[in-house]
Amino acid sequence: MKQKIQHFMMGRYGADQLGRLLMGVSVAFLLVSLLTRLDIFYIIALGTMAYEYYRMMSRQVERRYAENQKYLNGRYLLVVKWNRRKEHFRQRKTHHFYKCPACKQKVRVPKGKGRICITCPKCKEEFIRKS
Ligand SMILES: [Zn+2]
Repeated sequence: MKQKIQHFMMGRYGADQLGRLLMGVSVAFLLVSLLTRLDIFYIIALGTMAYEYYRMMSRQVERRYAENQKYLNGRYLLVVKWNRRKEHFRQRKTHHFYKCPACKQKVRVPKGKGRICITCPKCKEEFIRKS
């Protein structure tokens, strides 16, 4: 039996991080459907699960790999954004964060210095703000 499964899975894509996420989403929708007794959540759960099984059985390994890479990149960017936000929140009492009006670069300045002229480190645009 085990050998049969191994043979069946040969050349197929299998599980990955995106697959794990899809399974989690599917289980979450299944729980919501149990609690709310609404068919729509059950259908979404089944659809998500079906899609994940389709990905696992797929022989288009490169495509599935690219999808997973896209997902991992997006997840990474979210983590970076979240960490930056946390860092800004931690420094909120000692620093101000301004966006350069020209290039949207974020600029950090210390608080409590009155009106100051800020020079953007990226495009050298100068703008005046209260610190
Ligand atoms: Zn700038």
